[in-house]
Amino acid sequence: MIVMEPNTQNADIEAVVARIASIGCESHVSHGQERSVIGATGDQGELQQLPWEAMVGVERAVPVLKSFKLVSRDFQTEDTVIEVRGVKIGAGSFTAMAGPCAVENRDQLFRSAEAVVKSGAKVLRGDAFKPRTSPYSFQGLGEAGLQLMAEAREEFNVPFIAEVLDPRDVEMVASYADILRIGTRNMSNYTLLTEVGRQLRPVQLKRGFTSSIEEWLSAAEFMYKEGNHQIMLVERGIRTFEIASRNTLDITAVPILKKLSHLPVIVDPSHSGGYQYLVAPLARVAVAAGADGFLIDVHHSPETAQVDGGQALLPSEFEDLMVVIRKLADAMGVTVT
Ligand code: PEP
Ligand code: MN
Repeated sequence: MIVMEPNTQNADIEAVVARIASIGCESHVSHGQERSVIGATGDQGELQQLPWEAMVGVERAVPVLKSFKLVSRDFQTEDTVIEVRGVKIGAGSFTAMAGPCAVENRDQLFRSAEAVVKSGAKVLRGDAFKPRTSPYSFQGLGEAGLQLMAEAREEFNVPFIAEVLDPRDVEMVASYADILRIGTRNMSNYTLLTEVGRQLRPVQLKRGFTSSIEEWLSAAEFMYKEGNHQIMLVERGIRTFEIASRNTLDITAVPILKKLSHLPVIVDPSHSGGYQYLVAPLARVAVAAGADGFLIDVHHSPETAQVDGGQALLPSEFEDLMVVIRKLADAMGVTVT
């Protein structure tokens, strides 16, 4: 990592970038408010041999030994803010994202979408491809589900997120969805990470349910390095010895990620707790811990839902939750967007 002096000339930055290229390495420039930082990736031996400090405008060169570099705070001090159809995610605001776990049909989707948007959700969720533990469970409507989501986007004027499971579907899903999502089971699917990394669509990267924070940030690094810089990290619970909840929400991950990385952090209380009665308490904790938003399953009829009915909030429960979230956010000095 090559840290430039404050207010360096562009020509000096370009000279460093050219020097990095001349030894076959790649550079990633971060223009901060005070100074620019150039992340050089490639052969560390070659990189460390050169006398970077002798170049004009270079303050210091620091070897970054972590397995993630570009997604780290060392590389970029300021928070990344992701803008999707006028909604800004990250840096001092809290974004509510909600909707059904899966798109089942038009009526079901539109009912949930209308309700969550009315209560203050700024991003709609609803999946067309469902990763299921059993091959006999409902797998989603596929492209037809994305078409319905696109209709809901127009009807309720809200961007939407949808999961992509297969590298071969990335372009197709990206042609509909405003935000792609990589699910917990695919966090370490490097083919999928690379493919999504080549898209310009914002992406949510869920934490693998048995992954450490370092492994998670390294997975984000794969996409960042490919050129996709609009990454949100979604804590969705990890597997522990505790079986009273579906997973254990690792709330500690929120301040840790804020310290280690500049990327927005989102909490998914639905897939963490796995039970309706746990969703509101975990959602409240997300605001208090400093998350940038949450992702919540809402269904107008959880008892007939084809996926994850046991953890879905009713629209009225989501509405009540949003009232409390606004108060908590206010107390924290955070705006609910
Ligand atoms: C989901 O959000 O619907 C989902 C499948 O989540 P996860 O990948 O965290 O299990
Ligand atoms: Mn779900």
